[in-house]
Amino acid sequence: MADVPAECNIKVLCRFRPLNQSEIVRGDQFIPKFQGDDTVVVGGRSYSFDRVFPTNTTQEQVYNTCAKQIVKDVLFGYNGTIFAYGQTSSGKTHTMEGKLHDPHQMGIIPRIAEDIFNHIFAMDENLEFHIKVSYFEIYMDKIRDLLDVTKTNLSVHEDKNRVPYVKGCTERFVSSPDEVMDVIDEGKANRHVAVTNMNEHSSRSHSIFLINIKQEHVETEQKLCGKLYLVDLAGSEKVSKTGAAGAVLDEAKNINKSLSALGNVISALAEGTKTHVPYRDSKMTRILQDSLGGNCRTTMFICCSPSSYNDAETKSTLMFGQRAKTIRNTASINLELTAEQWKRKYEKEKEKNKTMKDTIQKLETELNRWRNGETQVVTRIETVEERPVLDNDTSSIVVRISEEERQKYEEEIRKLYKQLDDKDDEINLQCQLVEKLKQQMLDQDELLASSKGDGDKVQAELGRLQVESDCAKAEVKEVLQALEELAINYDQKSQEVEEKGLQNQLLADQLSQKMVLFKMNLRLTDGELKLSETGGGTEGHEEFTVARLYISKIKSEVKSMVKRCRQLENMQLECHRKMEETGRELSSCQLLISQHEAKIRSLTEYMQSVEQKKRLLEESHDSLSEELAKLQDQVLPHIVSVAQKTLCVCSFFFQKTIRQQGESHRGLHHKQLARLRDEINEKQRIIDELTESVTILIFSSYLHRNIDNLELSLTYFHLSVLQARELQTLHNLRKLFVQDLTSRVKKSSEMEPDDSGGSCTQKQKISFLENNLDQLTKVHKQLVRDNADLRCELPKLEKRLRSTAERVKALETALRDAKEGAMMDRRRYQQEVDRIKDAMRAKNALRRPHAAQIAADGMKRDTAELRQRQLQPQLCPEQHVSLNPSLQLFQSHIARFKVRSLHNN
Ligand code: ADP
Ligand code: MG
Repeated sequence: MADVPAECNIKVLCRFRPLNQSEIVRGDQFIPKFQGDDTVVVGGRSYSFDRVFPTNTTQEQVYNTCAKQIVKDVLFGYNGTIFAYGQTSSGKTHTMEGKLHDPHQMGIIPRIAEDIFNHIFAMDENLEFHIKVSYFEIYMDKIRDLLDVTKTNLSVHEDKNRVPYVKGCTERFVSSPDEVMDVIDEGKANRHVAVTNMNEHSSRSHSIFLINIKQEHVETEQKLCGKLYLVDLAGSEKVSKTGAAGAVLDEAKNINKSLSALGNVISALAEGTKTHVPYRDSKMTRILQDSLGGNCRTTMFICCSPSSYNDAETKSTLMFGQRAKTIRNTASINLELTAEQWKRKYEKEKEKNKTMKDTIQKLETELNRWRNGETQVVTRIETVEERPVLDNDTSSIVVRISEEERQKYEEEIRKLYKQLDDKDDEINLQCQLVEKLKQQMLDQDELLASSKGDGDKVQAELGRLQVESDCAKAEVKEVLQALEELAINYDQKSQEVEEKGLQNQLLADQLSQKMVLFKMNLRLTDGELKLSETGGGTEGHEEFTVARLYISKIKSEVKSMVKRCRQLENMQLECHRKMEETGRELSSCQLLISQHEAKIRSLTEYMQSVEQKKRLLEESHDSLSEELAKLQDQVLPHIVSVAQKTLCVCSFFFQKTIRQQGESHRGLHHKQLARLRDEINEKQRIIDELTESVTILIFSSYLHRNIDNLELSLTYFHLSVLQARELQTLHNLRKLFVQDLTSRVKKSSEMEPDDSGGSCTQKQKISFLENNLDQLTKVHKQLVRDNADLRCELPKLEKRLRSTAERVKALETALRDAKEGAMMDRRRYQQEVDRIKDAMRAKNALRRPHAAQIAADGMKRDTAELRQRQLQPQLCPEQHVSLNPSLQLFQSHIARFKVRSLHNN
């Protein structure tokens, strides 16, 4: 693969950032002293690197000095890596990224992105490039894809050339610097979204930007590929701290695992011994395995703070850089050979193999000779350079064994590596599982929280209800208290009333006494006592008015109390009534429920019994068919005939039984039909009767009405006749009286001397007449009163008439409803009868053995339905009643009507 492998050391560049504002404010000292281009003195010790950048070096200078070359190398097919190492805020990110979109302040990565495309555009147009970029970070030894946030724990695998790579990480094809920048922006945005404290996160995680460039010559098909890792490492300060403390928290260990692993790898490589290099200690060292001591051109930026405050960290960083400087890489071009080149290489290798074989041959003959006792070695082998020095026999054996062992070991190592990869995969899977479980746990937690919330809500609701019920209780209590108070008040008031009554009585007594006294005084004294009498009278009068006032007040109070009492009593009565109503409703509901329950119970029992019967029948059928099959299989030909006979007999018997059953069923049906017909006839009879009675009732009510009317008019007539007569008589009497009076007056004037006797008789007559007149007026008054009474009764009678008419109307509608219901019932019964008839007919018609099953089934169903129908009234009497609600209504109307007519009569 590699054409001209060239060994070279890792390039280490040291960059010091300027003192920052806070350091200046704090008055920190600026400790580094720069000597030439490549040396810096810190704390009296000088450190030399490939290049030392003082604080005022611009981003462009940094890039041009070292990073520019790497781009060229990658485009020529080498692998490249640029690290930035240093404590937090020493300028690693500033060096690697800088301000991404600022042309002056942009760091190495954006400049490389631009430079790559500039180079490509300047290269041979026959070259075709494929540029892919990936962006991921390593945190707590987990690789997280920054271009796909769902990939949180990627694993490291080895390709066919045993070069490690991140398996499954997102690769984006890019064709311009802008696209590269877009990818970086996207990755950075994802990184920000995933974490809460970005500064802390970035100081504890490594971010790796990978550019993969493949090129192919269109004509020669020559293929080259180069990878460029751009790594912004986590802050190095933790490493020194861990080293100093000796024992650290697990988390800190994990965070720094890859960084300490990097230190160990660099130490192992720097020691230069052929000890084991612990690349596999962390994912980061595994990814960068090729960059450290492998096939890669590596540049490391050592970023340092110039402040005396960070003096220790700076020194450790510088030491780290010194160690890294000694690492030697063997970089070669990653060339993919064409067929022609492979062919040539094959020829070359074949040639080489041939000469090797010759050499082996020669050596073997020499060995044989030597074994045979010839001490002098004749032939010198010049072609073998790697030949072991053969001092004696044992050493030769040792060499051979070690070679075999080496192969064995290598094989084993390969196996172990494979196992390691597998384990990595497994770990990855487990990690994913853990993540999933964590997610599930979180979900469960959420669910728990939500259910808790629900529970709380319910609890709160419960509390609220409790409070409400408490309030209601308190209210009830208050009301009761108020009632009690009212009762007490009432008692008090009644007591007061009694007292006041007593007082009143007393006052009245006093008043009467005083009146008596006053009268006595009045009688005894006339003149002098008149004054005192008037004074006493006024006093008594005043007292009397006061008493009267008292009494009126008490009376009003008593009245109000009585009113209140009555209201309360009414309320109590109302409450009692309501309670009774509710009780009645409750009992009816309970009754209904119990009825329904009983119904359900009996239905389920019936269903169960039917089910059981069905099962039994099926079982017997199955057993019979089984037996039949067995018999058919087992029985010999001579028994067959017997069996056939038996079968015939059986079938005959079966047919007979079926027929009998059919007949019995038919009989049942007939009975059923007859019963139904009877029922219909009965119903019809009832309806007819009812219709008749209704018509009679209507007629009678009509007659009653007419009679009432007639009676009324008759009484009116009588009354009017009487009135007229009486009036007439009155009139006549008056006339007579007047005539008589005038005649008598005439007579008296003619017979003047017989004065006394005549006047006496006259007087008697006049008084008699006067009496008569009085009687007449009385009669007249009585008549008028009667007339008024009759007039009063007139609206009542009219009302009665109206109500009767209404009742008749209601009865008519009820009758109509009843008729309709009866019709419907009749229709239903008719349908039922038809259906049963059809079923019977079908049964009779289907005599073939094949149809027997279906028909039998139908019959079974029919009989079952019939049985159910027969059962129904027993199960639910109210259902039977509800068959004809209109009839019921009609009956109730009739009953009501009867009651009313009785009441009216
Ligand atoms: P790190 O990535 O090592 O934690 P940063 O690159 O974020 O550190 O640098 C910390 C701060 O110092 C940033 O504000 C950066 O702008 C500034 N800074 C770092 N190096 C330089 C430099 N060479 N010149 C000017 N400012 C620098
Ligand atoms: Mg940083």
